[in-house]
Amino acid sequence: MTPRGWAVLTLAGLLVALAVAAALLVPWQRPPAPRADQLAALRDLPADQVAHSRALRAALRPGRYTGLVVGLLVALALGLTPLGGRLVELAGRPFGGHWVAQAVLGGLAVVLVADLLTLPFSAWRHAVLTRYGLSVQGWGGWTVDLLKSYAVSAVLGAVVLLGFYTVTRLAPRWWWAVGAAGAAGLVALLSFVLPVLVEPVFNRFTPMEPGPLRTELMAMAARDGVPVKDVLVADASRRTRAVNAYVSGLGPTRRVVVYDTLLREATPAEVTSVVAHELGHARDRDVAVGTLTGALGAAAGVVALYLLGSARPLLRLAGVDSIAEPRAFPLLLALVTVAGLVATPVQAAVSRLVEARADAHALALTGDPATFEAMQRRLAGVNLADPDPPRWERLWSASHPSTVERMAAARAYARETGR
Ligand SMILES: [Zn+2]
Repeated sequence: MTPRGWAVLTLAGLLVALAVAAALLVPWQRPPAPRADQLAALRDLPADQVAHSRALRAALRPGRYTGLVVGLLVALALGLTPLGGRLVELAGRPFGGHWVAQAVLGGLAVVLVADLLTLPFSAWRHAVLTRYGLSVQGWGGWTVDLLKSYAVSAVLGAVVLLGFYTVTRLAPRWWWAVGAAGAAGLVALLSFVLPVLVEPVFNRFTPMEPGPLRTELMAMAARDGVPVKDVLVADASRRTRAVNAYVSGLGPTRRVVVYDTLLREATPAEVTSVVAHELGHARDRDVAVGTLTGALGAAAGVVALYLLGSARPLLRLAGVDSIAEPRAFPLLLALVTVAGLVATPVQAAVSRLVEARADAHALALTGDPATFEAMQRRLAGVNLADPDPPRWERLWSASHPSTVERMAAARAYARETGR
């Protein structure tokens, strides 16, 4: 069998594995909370808060979607014309067009151009968030964070680009197999290792002061069968008013991280409710399942890129001979960008189901739907989330159930359990 035949077979195998994993591990059977409860919850929210949140979301929308379209158009313009390939050549020219320079500098140059052209939309977003008081970061701090994230991506990108083009040179007919394994490994690395390495670049973490809240959180985690080593507080208030918490690490390194903004804004019972939700993610191994499906998807993506990348019309548009050469990187990026847009609503739908399950876990663990609902109200107020966003936007990208869906879930739980 030819390498191409093996690639077709591998892709089929990966897609079957992905379908089986998705069928078994995604909580598909979770029905949404009754719409009547959702509408009742919406009526119970302060009208001025709802109007204010909706005004913010409306103000963000033009920049958000124009940015998305511009990002797509830039990726297509660089990838489906010889323009991107020329940029790669240009970046490699000071080094005599050496393939390493083309691969690393050329690749980074293409990403940088795409980033710079969509930068105005990020700045727009920051300006709107600042105007509505959601971001408390000045332009200086915003720029520093931006440069930090560029630096992190540049280092990571250089390693990936160098690795990828070394493999395509060493194994011109089999690179897709190594690339698929590498992409799967990279997803695992990003999900387990990077948070530990990158989190401290943006936030400082300090152990939570001993006291009743810390004792309660540790005890609840132990009771839930997901013991944690520590409860840490992140200094998120340096940049945002938004509140959050999460559980990170595995086994003996597992810890609960709480934003300082959450401690400032919410009552201890509400903090407990948020952490109970996060423990639900840890208990159901949502990060591990997400990593597994992400790794399978990334591996399938690389093989699909190899197969697509041998299509003559695409190569002709990009003015390259093979998808495996550094000058074809913009074409790869264009295909990845399109794939990302297709995957967005699928990932969002799965995420909403997983989040609804974590909510159900929080309700069962705390047995306190009243506090859960109060916390959802507060979250919506502080994060200025539209409590009941338009259906198309929810389907496109909402990673969590809406505020009214979550409040309605608490009401349904209270009804069922008589609490
Ligand atoms: Zn969650």
